[in-house]
Amino acid sequence: MEGNFSAELIQDKQIAIVGGGPGGLSLARMLQIRGGQVTVYERDASRMARVQGSSLDLHADSGQLLIQAAGLMEAFAKVARPEGEQHRIYDKHGCLVLDIPAYQVASSRPEIDRGVLRDLLLDALKPGTVQWNKRFVALEATAAGGYLLTFEDGSRAQVDIVIAADGANSRIRPYITDIRPHYSGTTLIQGEVEKPAISCPEVHEMVHQGNMIVLGDEKGLMLQQKGDGTLIFYATAKHPEHWVRTVGIDFAVKAKAVDFLTQFYAGWNPAFFTLFNASSHFVPRPMYGTPVHQQWDTQPALTMIGDAAHVMPPFAGVGVNMAMLDALELANCLTDPAFTDVTAAIHAYEIAMLARSAAAQERTKTSEDIFHAPTAIADLLKKLGCKAAAGGRF
Ligand SMILES: Cc1cc2nc3c(=O)[nH]c(=O)nc-3n(C[C@H](O)[C@H](O)[C@H](O)COP(=O)(O)OP(=O)(O)OC[C@H]3O[C@@H](n4cnc5c(N)ncnc54)[C@H](O)[C@@H]3O)c2cc1C
Repeated sequence: MEGNFSAELIQDKQIAIVGGGPGGLSLARMLQIRGGQVTVYERDASRMARVQGSSLDLHADSGQLLIQAAGLMEAFAKVARPEGEQHRIYDKHGCLVLDIPAYQVASSRPEIDRGVLRDLLLDALKPGTVQWNKRFVALEATAAGGYLLTFEDGSRAQVDIVIAADGANSRIRPYITDIRPHYSGTTLIQGEVEKPAISCPEVHEMVHQGNMIVLGDEKGLMLQQKGDGTLIFYATAKHPEHWVRTVGIDFAVKAKAVDFLTQFYAGWNPAFFTLFNASSHFVPRPMYGTPVHQQWDTQPALTMIGDAAHVMPPFAGVGVNMAMLDALELANCLTDPAFTDVTAAIHAYEIAMLARSAAAQERTKTSEDIFHAPTAIADLLKKLGCKAAAGGRF
């Protein structure tokens, strides 16, 4: 094995990872290359069951560290999109206030589509590692010190170590802590435009293959372009917790969602109304976050990574990066020869993970507040330490 790692703690153990998102698959790869016997239990029926959402940027100090340690840097370089890292900030009139070209950031944060990242990680696993159509429903500790997992289809699995990687609504989390995610105060309305160059050319030009944010009137639009050209956008604003249910708009009916957005963004550049009209559908997404400071007693041979451990709204764009860093750090602890038992290794991982996620939650909260402030653009530029670039209305 490369580096100062030992398979002693994990080599004779059956390790169950529940959830095959970026966190779970990253951990499965790391443990496999370090000698672990891993099964990933995923509720999706197959790898093709769901279209995987937007584009992500993998950071040099987190997501890319995992890619490097997992021996996947070469494969990553072939599918990553450094050119997607363009960042632009506009005001509600469509005036460009900040333009960070891709070449300034590309080396540290190349973009990758979520589905491409999932394929990269899946293809790196031994055949049969992922058991599809396995929705976890319950676990119980066994006398032998392991766990019996039960799945919705009635099947069961007897394992030695359980890692929850089942995302924001984790069903394993309640076995570890009573702390629950809470509504952050923000609801996003997600839209998607397949051929933006044709159906909303002005906004297509504005986003310029990368990411852009439009801020004003205590609300915003966040947009990003995927490798296939599809534009994903999120209309973001503060709303009460159950607003989606109480507002009386069926967002599944496109015309109703467009009407709402057109009125809600009244006074904004009409190009954004063309964007709303061009969207194939809309999905409202209330944002949830775990408390900044969390603590729990480490459970024997049972822990969480990624959103299961610390969900946060995407205002700092770090969720996937955190999940992948958790995977790396947990694999490092479980294969660290300094630890002589699994639970001690998990405890060390959790202490560092909770400190790391608290810092990320704080950054996320700061960005969420700035995006929805009356002085959002000035506040954001101040935070970024820059002055507005000379821009122009399109
Ligand atoms: C709108 C939006 C935009 C975002 N944008 C970004 C971004 O730009 N950059 C970024 O870094 N992060 C972003 N994030 C955050 C990011 O999506 C998450 O942090 C990341 O996906 C967490 O990875 P994970 O593997 O922990 O969980 P997930 O990606 O949620 O994966 C969990 C997996 O577990 C499976 N699962 C769930 N329940 C069960 C069960 N009971 N049994 C078996 N399997 C189960 C699911 O099917 C899924 O495959 C965004 C989030 C949202 C909501």
